[in-house]
Amino acid sequence: MPTNEETNLVPGRSCGPCTACCVFLRIDEDSLRKIEDDPCPNLAADGLCRIYEHRPATCRTFYCEWRYLRQLGDEWRPDLSKIMLRSHSGKSGGIIMQPLESPREVLTSRLALSLVASCISNAIPVYISIPTRPGHTHALVGLNKRLAQPVRARKLDLARKLMLATIDYAGKLTTETIAPLAD
Ligand code: SF4
Ligand code: SF4
Repeated sequence: MPTNEETNLVPGRSCGPCTACCVFLRIDEDSLRKIEDDPCPNLAADGLCRIYEHRPATCRTFYCEWRYLRQLGDEWRPDLSKIMLRSHSGKSGGIIMQPLESPREVLTSRLALSLVASCISNAIPVYISIPTRPGHTHALVGLNKRLAQPVRARKLDLARKLMLATIDYAGKLTTETIAPLAD
């Protein structure tokens, strides 16, 4: 019996070798506690979960947006694009772009900028999530206003320049310390 989350997944699409959420997720359950952005101790070298049948609810219920949005092509699988897309839980919704490698490289690719342009053109809020100081949460910065002008004018170079400036700005923001895990 599929879970509520599984009902909406793109049919026939699977995670394959991607394990991005086994690093990204914060898990704070009796059976497993790990902070965000930390590889899970149950993730084996071959990319398989050592406790798959008994994995925590956090893992069972999380899917990135690539698993939900059929308009995203195979190139958007997170281990290929190096960007994990997740939904923004705020009132206006939207998409968060979570770089898995150097933000300055992966978020300025043609693929990344084309998604940003598409979101802005369709009035979908789009954000980047950028690492700050060690031990602190990522900074979340919206792109819709910041990159509106180059998107309207179809100026890729300017969009890239503004994305780089936004990444640098976000990386210097003061964010909250990562909350401690339960004992
Ligand atoms: S318990 Fe398994 S599925 Fe959950 S994060 Fe760890 S390796 Fe991934
Ligand atoms: S990040 Fe997405 S594609 Fe990758 S393992 Fe998690 S749910 Fe699957």
